[in-house]
Amino acid sequence: MNRIVIKLGTGILTKGVGETDPEKIARMCAQIAEVRRRGIEVLVVSSGAIGMGMGILKMTRRPKTLAKQQACAAIGQSQLIQVWQDGFRPYGITVGQILLTHEGLALRDRYVNAKATIEQMLAYGVVPIINENDTISTYEIRFGNNDLLGAMVASLSDADQLQILSTAPGLVDLDGTGQTIPVVKAITPEVAAMAKDTNSPTAVGGMQSKIQAAQLATESGCTTYIASGAEENIVLRLLDGEEIGTRFEPVSAPIASKKRWLAYFQRPSGSLVIDDGAAKALTEKGRSLLAPGVVRSEGNFDRGDVVDVTNTAGIVVARGQSSLSSAEIAQLLADKTTPQNAEVIHRDSLALL
Ligand code: GLU
Repeated sequence: MNRIVIKLGTGILTKGVGETDPEKIARMCAQIAEVRRRGIEVLVVSSGAIGMGMGILKMTRRPKTLAKQQACAAIGQSQLIQVWQDGFRPYGITVGQILLTHEGLALRDRYVNAKATIEQMLAYGVVPIINENDTISTYEIRFGNNDLLGAMVASLSDADQLQILSTAPGLVDLDGTGQTIPVVKAITPEVAAMAKDTNSPTAVGGMQSKIQAAQLATESGCTTYIASGAEENIVLRLLDGEEIGTRFEPVSAPIASKKRWLAYFQRPSGSLVIDDGAAKALTEKGRSLLAPGVVRSEGNFDRGDVVDVTNTAGIVVARGQSSLSSAEIAQLLADKTTPQNAEVIHRDSLALL
C-alpha cells in the first residue's frame, strides 16, 4: 500500500446546509496525518465548494441554474481550501489546490501535466486537495459530482485504494436484506441496480455515481470503499482492513496505466461497429483493428480522435484512437479493394473494455 485517494462528500465537511464544520475537518486531518506517518501518500478529492458558497450566500437550497452553482463554487472554493490549510497546520502539512475538468483531462497533454503535477506535489510531501473547476465546466462536460472525479484521480495517480466517504453507509441492499453489503467482488448489473438516489440538499452524487466510480477505480486495479465519513476514525479503520461500509475488490487484470486515458478520460466522437472475427482478434489475440473487420462507422471524427469499438450485439468492447477519419473509413468501406492491412486502430492505441 503506497497511495490512497480519499473522496469526501460535502455532508462530511459541513454541518447543516453549507456551514463549515471545523471539528469534522480537524478529525479528518488527524487521520490523514497518521496515514502519512505510516508512509502512505494521500490525495484528497474534496467536495464542498458549492455547499460552502451556499452557506456564505445564506442559501438553504442548492440553486438550480448552472451559473448560480458555479458562482457558489467560486465563492466556496477559497473557503474550502482555507479550511483544509487550517486543519493540516497543526501537523505541519502543506496543501496544494488542483482544479480539474473532464474536458481538460480528455486532452492528452493536459492529462499528462495533471499527472506530473500530482507526482511532484506528492514528492514534495504536500497533500493535493482536488476539486472540479466548476467555473468553466458546463452540464455536458461536468463530472456532475466528485465521485467520478475521485475515481479518475485514483486511476490517473495509480492509487492502491480509493475511499469514497459520504453520508451514505455503503451500498445497501434496500430491496433485499436492508443491510449494507460488505464485499462486492464484481460490479454486475444486479449490483448496479441496487444503487438508489440521494435526498440530501447539498449532495448530488447518490449511490449510482458511487457505483460508477467504483467500477472505474476497480477496473484500474484500485480497491474501493464506499463508507460513512461520519464513522469515527473511518480512514484508518478501512486502511486496517476493518469491515465497514462496502469494499469493492479490484479486477484481477486491470487495464494498463497508459491505456486508461483512452478507456476512461474520453468522450468518444464516434463508433466503429466491427464483425465477430475482428472482435475475436482484438479481444482474444490483442491485434490491431484492420479495415476489413469494420462493418460500419458512426459519427464524424478526425484522425486521432477517440472512438468506441462496438460488436454486432451493440456492446462496446474497446475504445481507441482512430488512425483514419470517418470520411476516410467510409471511403475504404465503399471501395471493395480495401487492402487487408489497412489499419484503423493500432493495438497500442486500443484499450479493451
Ligand atoms: N465540485 C462540487 C463542489 O465542490 C462537487 C459537488 C457538487 O456538484 O455539488 O461543491
